[in-house]
Amino acid sequence: MGYGLEGIDELLRDRLLVMIRERAAVDVLPHVGRRTGGLVLTGADAPVRCREIRSAFPGMVVAMDLESHTREVATADAPFGLRTSYGWRALGLADLNEILDGQRENRASFAVTPTCFIPADETGDAATLKAVIREANRLHRTDTVVLLPCSYQWLRGVSLLHLVEQIRACRHPVALIMQASNVDPLSRAHVPEGLRQVCRSCPRLLLWRTDLAAFDAMAHGAWGAAVGASAVLRFGVAPRPDNGGGGHKPYTVVLVRRLLRYVRVATLQDWFAHIDPWTCDCAVCEGAALTRFTDTDADVLAALQHTVRELYALHEELEATLPGHERENWWRQQLTDSSDHHRLLASQTDTEVSFPKVLQAWRRPSPLPLPVPAEPRGQDHSGTS
Ligand SMILES: [Zn+2]
Repeated sequence: MGYGLEGIDELLRDRLLVMIRERAAVDVLPHVGRRTGGLVLTGADAPVRCREIRSAFPGMVVAMDLESHTREVATADAPFGLRTSYGWRALGLADLNEILDGQRENRASFAVTPTCFIPADETGDAATLKAVIREANRLHRTDTVVLLPCSYQWLRGVSLLHLVEQIRACRHPVALIMQASNVDPLSRAHVPEGLRQVCRSCPRLLLWRTDLAAFDAMAHGAWGAAVGASAVLRFGVAPRPDNGGGGHKPYTVVLVRRLLRYVRVATLQDWFAHIDPWTCDCAVCEGAALTRFTDTDADVLAALQHTVRELYALHEELEATLPGHERENWWRQQLTDSSDHHRLLASQTDTEVSFPKVLQAWRRPSPLPLPVPAEPRGQDHSGTS
């Protein structure tokens, strides 16, 4: 697929992607926003599925994440790599180009670098992160997004300054993944503020493998985001030998839009044990109660389809606002409404419904963007000063 005159930037701007295992992709496809949506496929057969979907729906934006970051730690010598049927393969520049070409040959709308996981910066010189950007900047391509799968510790302290500097230095759009050990990275101190600062300071940024943080990021200047369809795809994971396996069966979870959070259906059933449950008017629910989903495969899928519909409904509102103050104010109002709905729910149901910490953090004032360092003055500076 060729790009219009504006290229990849125009393709990514205000784009909300759903990140999903390739096997489940076809089931959510009808619910993905056609104009501003799309899919990021994971899993071994992602290339095949990408080609199939793009052949059937050429207008749909589809990319893939080869998930090297869940398998191997990046080093300054080998920032990119790939698991193959012959074992692990570190990728030099020519190999990297070949892998990116392969994604495009499988009709991906844009290519995504197979970056390995970037752990916290122990040495303080950001050597690994710099190696990722340096190598990526040697790619003569205009169809590629550079993936930065980072420990949450890059979102605070002096590491944050390195991160912003490197994203600004990148010639390609950047997709940022945040990882903390099996918890929401945004539950770590200073990370919500740090992420906002990155979004406000860096052009051409996507938040990748995330949850509703997509909206906080886009309200603060991120161009787009990829929201995970399942819990494991909603934040980064550190590389482990057994990554990529099936895992245990997840609980049925739905996005409750007016609360701005994912809630287990069992919890909803507790909340609404004695009063009429909240209903949903999306095209999947058609006015039915949010408490109706069970743990059957059909209901888990219907719950996901509902969630995707609601994500795009929220995104449609965001997209209707102007980037900057108007968008930030819209998001602030969503958070205020969510807080009100939490209180209303607690009083109506006479149960404890606490307002999640991350939503509390998002109600706090935003930090300013980091200043852009002044360009060093050239020798030919004429004597006007
Ligand atoms: Zn619904």
